[in-house]
Amino acid sequence: MFNALVVEKDEESGKTAAAVRQIGVDDLPHGEVLVAVEYSTVNYKDGLCIGPGGGLVRNYPHVPGIDFAGVVEESADARYKPGDRVVLTGWRVGEAHWGGYAQKARVLADWLVPLPEGLDTRAAMAVGTAGFTAMLSVMALEDHGLAPGHGPVLVTGAAGGVGSVATAILAHLGYEVAAVTGRPETADYLKDLGASQIVAREELSEVTRKPLESELWAGCVDAVAGVMLGRVLKQMKYGSSVAAVGLAGGAAIEGALITPFILRGVNLLGIDSVMQPYENRLRAWERIASDLPMDKLEAMIQPATLSDLPELGRGILKGQVKGRVVVDVN
Ligand code: NDP
Repeated sequence: MFNALVVEKDEESGKTAAAVRQIGVDDLPHGEVLVAVEYSTVNYKDGLCIGPGGGLVRNYPHVPGIDFAGVVEESADARYKPGDRVVLTGWRVGEAHWGGYAQKARVLADWLVPLPEGLDTRAAMAVGTAGFTAMLSVMALEDHGLAPGHGPVLVTGAAGGVGSVATAILAHLGYEVAAVTGRPETADYLKDLGASQIVAREELSEVTRKPLESELWAGCVDAVAGVMLGRVLKQMKYGSSVAAVGLAGGAAIEGALITPFILRGVNLLGIDSVMQPYENRLRAWERIASDLPMDKLEAMIQPATLSDLPELGRGILKGQVKGRVVVDVN
């Protein structure tokens, strides 16, 4: 028997409740690889899955945790053997399939990525889906021509998980980073991560009717969408790109016009971490190991245990979590 955070649903009231319980290996879903989980983390989606479900969880009881890193215990797949260190993000694990908020997880071999040299399981979860997605965003911007020296790169939702890691990676690669935050008290934290400019959220929180604004940004990693993305698009430099990652500020792109696309050749690049093909996953994790400074990553970490998760889940849904939570499941 081992510990897991189990979410149960009361069929009559429709309400869910999460608590740490003992479960057995036989309770785990089907899969080829049994992993002794060492660390997990908390993403926005985890907040939904620990709490009301957000339409992501179909069956209860459920074990959430969309990310985990650990050591292979048993494997029926030739690619993995006991003792291998692995990381898992995405593939709807923690939503449709039981996830990483347990001391053991059983999953498909196709979903795993071997941890690159230089990254341990704790660091991998300090990165998690948020950091992995930040890296995918930086890779997409570079693949579309961004290079240091082109001008400031804007990161929205900068004190959040995606934003913190994007800020640290971009600064480490030599980019000038402008960090947008609604929490002025995080300015020192963001500067320590490498941001050279702090932009107050209010500066980008009103819809404008202007077709274009002054060209300010050479690239953008946007975790917020809503009014902010509508404004940012109009401030992008000629031929530059925005990596659209998240919707912390709303699912619509409010006030957006076609003008940035047809008059400035701006690109809006969609970033999905969940169904990302294996080769690109490998590339992203290898680049994380080489391009994310570990001392900066350490500064983002907020440690937690399985029993802290119900409260952290509520916190991340309210935008109150700073940086990256690392959950020691043992
Ligand atoms: P966090 O909650 O850690 O960060 C989101 C940040 O956005 C907050 O910290 C806050 O930053 C800012 N924010 C929150 N609410 C608002 C608002 N109403 N208006 C403007 N800014 C706001 O989440 P993550 O970093 O983990 O994820 C960010 C987004 O990316 C989420 O929407 C998530 O669902 C999405 N996502 C998408 C992935 C993909 O595959 N495409 C993968 C991972 C995440 P600050 O306090 O600095 O203002």
